[in-house]
Amino acid sequence: MAVRSSSPSSTAAARARATAAAASDADGAAGVRKGGEGKGKAPGGKAASARSSNGKAVAGGRAVAGGKAVAGKATAARTTVKAAAEGAARARAGAASARRAGPRRRAHKWVYLFEQGGAAMRDLLGGKGAGVAEMTRAGLPVPPGFTITTEACNEFYRLGRQFPDGMWDQTRAALTTIERKTGKRFGDTDNPLLVSVRSGARFSMPGMMDTVLNLGLNDRTRDGLAELTGDERFALDAHRRFIQLFSKIVLGIDGDLFEHALDAVKQRTGAATDADLTPDALRDVVEAYRGIVRDQHKGEFPEEPLDQLRGAIGAVFSSWNNKRATDYRNYNGIPHDLGTAVSVQSMVFGNMGGDSGTGVAFTRDPNTGERRLFGEYLLNAQGEDVVAGIRTAPPISAMRDQLPKVYREFAAIARRLETHYRDMQDLEFTIERGHLYMLQTRTAKRTAQAAVKIAVDMVRERLITREEAVQRVEPRHIDHLLHRRIDPAADIRILTTGLAASPGAAYGKAVFSADRAEEMARAGEKVILVRIETNPDDVHGMIAAEGVLTSRGGRTSHAAVVARGMGRPCVAGAEGARVNLKARSFTAGDVTIREGEEFTIDGSTGNVIDGTVPMIEPEISGELEQLLTWADSFRRLQVWANGDYPHDAERARAFGAQGIGLCRTEHMFMQQERLPIVQRMILAGSEEERRAALDELLPMQRSDFHGILKAMKGLPVVIRLIDPPLHEFLPSMEDLLVEVTRAEALGVPEEEYAEQRRLLAAVRDLREENPMLGLRGCRLGLRYPEIIEMQVRAILEAAVQLKRERVDVRPEIMIPLVGHVNELMRTREHIETTARRVLGEGRVKIAYKVGTMIEIPRAALTAGAVARAAEFFSFGTNDLTQMTFGYSRDDAEAGFLLRYVAEGVLPVNPFESLDRDGVGRLMRLAVTEGRAARPDLEVGICGEHGGDPASIALCEELGLDYVSCSPYRVPVARLAAAQARLNLMADKR
Ligand code: ADP
Ligand code: MG
Ligand code: MG
Repeated sequence: MAVRSSSPSSTAAARARATAAAASDADGAAGVRKGGEGKGKAPGGKAASARSSNGKAVAGGRAVAGGKAVAGKATAARTTVKAAAEGAARARAGAASARRAGPRRRAHKWVYLFEQGGAAMRDLLGGKGAGVAEMTRAGLPVPPGFTITTEACNEFYRLGRQFPDGMWDQTRAALTTIERKTGKRFGDTDNPLLVSVRSGARFSMPGMMDTVLNLGLNDRTRDGLAELTGDERFALDAHRRFIQLFSKIVLGIDGDLFEHALDAVKQRTGAATDADLTPDALRDVVEAYRGIVRDQHKGEFPEEPLDQLRGAIGAVFSSWNNKRATDYRNYNGIPHDLGTAVSVQSMVFGNMGGDSGTGVAFTRDPNTGERRLFGEYLLNAQGEDVVAGIRTAPPISAMRDQLPKVYREFAAIARRLETHYRDMQDLEFTIERGHLYMLQTRTAKRTAQAAVKIAVDMVRERLITREEAVQRVEPRHIDHLLHRRIDPAADIRILTTGLAASPGAAYGKAVFSADRAEEMARAGEKVILVRIETNPDDVHGMIAAEGVLTSRGGRTSHAAVVARGMGRPCVAGAEGARVNLKARSFTAGDVTIREGEEFTIDGSTGNVIDGTVPMIEPEISGELEQLLTWADSFRRLQVWANGDYPHDAERARAFGAQGIGLCRTEHMFMQQERLPIVQRMILAGSEEERRAALDELLPMQRSDFHGILKAMKGLPVVIRLIDPPLHEFLPSMEDLLVEVTRAEALGVPEEEYAEQRRLLAAVRDLREENPMLGLRGCRLGLRYPEIIEMQVRAILEAAVQLKRERVDVRPEIMIPLVGHVNELMRTREHIETTARRVLGEGRVKIAYKVGTMIEIPRAALTAGAVARAAEFFSFGTNDLTQMTFGYSRDDAEAGFLLRYVAEGVLPVNPFESLDRDGVGRLMRLAVTEGRAARPDLEVGICGEHGGDPASIALCEELGLDYVSCSPYRVPVARLAAAQARLNLMADKR
């Protein structure tokens, strides 16, 4: 019997577990990338075992919410890795002081019987140990056992891999108690006690030691077992499985050797399957196994049960620091000093005939959230046979007919556990000769859809409060639901995995340039734009494409940011895909996708997938609406959206946005028909020429603003004046240089490239060493006030027009990149002069605000003075982060930043999640001093961070008025803002 199988799991429960993990666990997906362990089918065609999928651990960590509640301390369900670490640290301190107290005092307690533990003791007993303890205390049928603490594991390491003082004695004492309870004796030849040895850390973790079953068997106890059960074959089979498992797991011997030996005996005796092996053949297998151990282990197989136990416990402790476990913790930010617990439990046997069996079940459907028992079981089977897919397991509902009494008992227990933990549980059980035994309970993983439904249903069932429901759904679950996603039942072939940069899935034909994307999309084709990285020149292609794949860049690279803003799925930084723009193809592993060939990206997991796959369309279900409405009733922060076009505004509103926090006017300049006019404006030789170009732009901008102000009627719209350096609107200097040089070299008549030459000169003129720190933002406006005048005129004329149409408009004009209050004041003067003129002409009153971005550290540091000239602040945290760290974001992300994060130089990418200590401190100062100078100062954030839950929590703490994020993140932000508020209130209490 394989406790953990690497063979494809074929059963529905296994799949459910795997898909719930995949769908609900972006971290898990990221783990896949790092660990190189594929979900679904890896290129090799081998599916990862559902049970060993990486996603598992994280959800194990989340299970705490329920556990805590049970303990009666329903503090906010926000349990962090850090909190766990602190718990462990406290526990260690306790252990240390107990040791210092000297040998005379009562020895430190390393071992807890199940009935001595409970759900609240997760830190000490691990998730599994706490679960069986809680079930035992609740009076459920759990085979007796005990748990050796995580403290013991840590002490084991401190002592150079030795059991701490007293631990072994306590283990033996606990074993005696188990013997008394079961009426069996460890190592006894007549009525032997057999145990399982199970590992279990606070966070369930793949990579740790697997469970050893049937420990305590040797030739003598095996004969006792045979006699006792009247089934010699069963006893022999248990024995050979035990040697196989123990040798592999505890002694570290290659498992294949045993498989080969087994095959050899099968062949020799003509047995088609394991089940056909006769007792005599099995005896041969046992002998052959012993031979392997002698060869490989340079010693005999430990026959003495206590030696076996000692070995297994040491092996569990040691597995805490094996490479896979260490890598996993590194990747998921789990501290290394939590340690693992070891649970030792008397065995029950699901393989003792037709009234025995084993299974796994969820208390609700983890895919849909439907309230019904969901799972599978197998008659006459042991351990994880169900999940390993050795036989096809019938659904748990079949048990109703086969073992009706047991089924009723199980259903009642499942209900009870769910009520007890107040959350959906994932259960493991075994039936021995008609008796039901519970072996594990934990908070179940679920898909996004199920998470929302279950949270809302449980409120309706009066199991949890609305606050808890809002706390229980993860923001990224919402993200999943608002995007098209891959059908979890689909068979997919993953080519490579990059960063999950913008959620949702898409398929289409590969294209390798923006122009080609546009062309093919116009012809009605679905395309995916593939680039090494993207820049503003590619935006039209991104608009045309279903999704974007880049081989370079992080989650805040251009491709990621723009794709998120547009709601396009994006996989960024897929280094496993070698993109050849010239050949118009990319290669991942041994697969090459050429232009026109179809493939799929999943921006929620980062997967790049061969061919097309079935998709599920996004839905805002009634439950999701309900949950978000509850969230709205708890949050203080408003949620606004960043949007440049009327359709962004409409979408944002539909998702619940309460304003537009950033409307970028320059995106409007980038549109193809406008670019030549913009270029003329930039290259104008005189103010007159410039004004002529601006006059052409005015009606276009006015209609843009008209559209967006109208879409947001009754709500504020923050419009930012021109921001980027001018060269962004011009052709690249490199390209022009090549063109002109080539023309010169070929002796092309001068007049034929005079235009290029003029352009080149102009571009050269405007060239800056550090354009991001150069002539941009308000500096640009002060240098060419005509631009400000045109933009302000366009805004206010649109407002006047709408006012006449009786539309309530609330424009807010935002001045970017202010470092000194004088820049703000002077820009303001231009704005006010223009406003007087426009409003005087129209003889209407428009209430508008003028405010500034806070994105240069100096503006934050002098916020008091700045606030006297600004009616609102909006934190531009992209620039603020860039300038506070002194990183050029794009260069940093392409260069060292991701490595910094991987190596732990930086805890997180500060462009993804606000840096509390630095940038956050500047923000706090700006809020405090700004409000001191102007109490009704409106303060928000419009950087990418506005949609990041951790950053939203900081904004809540700082007392901002609103966060603004891309329209598609608005529902996520609504939930995150509510959670931030609830957590803050809980912390205050
Ligand atoms: P995992 O972390 O992989 O879930 P477990 O410790 O839960 O590992 O063990 C895996 C399986 O082994 C269980 O689901 C159960 O079927 C079987 N098992 C563990 N302990 C016992 C036991 N005492 N008696 C019978 N089966 C057991
Ligand atoms: Mg395990
Ligand atoms: Mg288990």
